[in-house]
Amino acid sequence: MTSLEQHLTDHAQSTRYIDGAPHCACKCGAWMADADDRRPTQAHRAHVADAWREARTVRTVEELDALPGLTIVKPFAPLSEAVLASDLADDRLDNPDDDDLPALILWTPEDGAL
Ligand SMILES: [Zn+2]
Repeated sequence: MTSLEQHLTDHAQSTRYIDGAPHCACKCGAWMADADDRRPTQAHRAHVADAWREARTVRTVEELDALPGLTIVKPFAPLSEAVLASDLADDRLDNPDDDDLPALILWTPEDGAL
């Protein structure tokens, strides 16, 4: 599980030159602003947020089981409450047809104090 600090380092804004023209880009290499983008910094922030959300999304019971103990997740389902990842994984094993996944990781012990 990557930390927020590492995520921000991995997705730092950078400049990429194409045919000598500077383009706002992400250090990860997965994103670059279009030449006509008037708000590249905001678009980059949206990319960083999307990448963070994806990095914190759990889609399978196997991913739930791999999380550290006491990790708190929130299923994407409307009006669902945050639960311990281990409880959600146990529930998924008991009810394989439920739709609690995907879920967003809200906190892990690796994130530090609340
Ligand atoms: Zn990036």
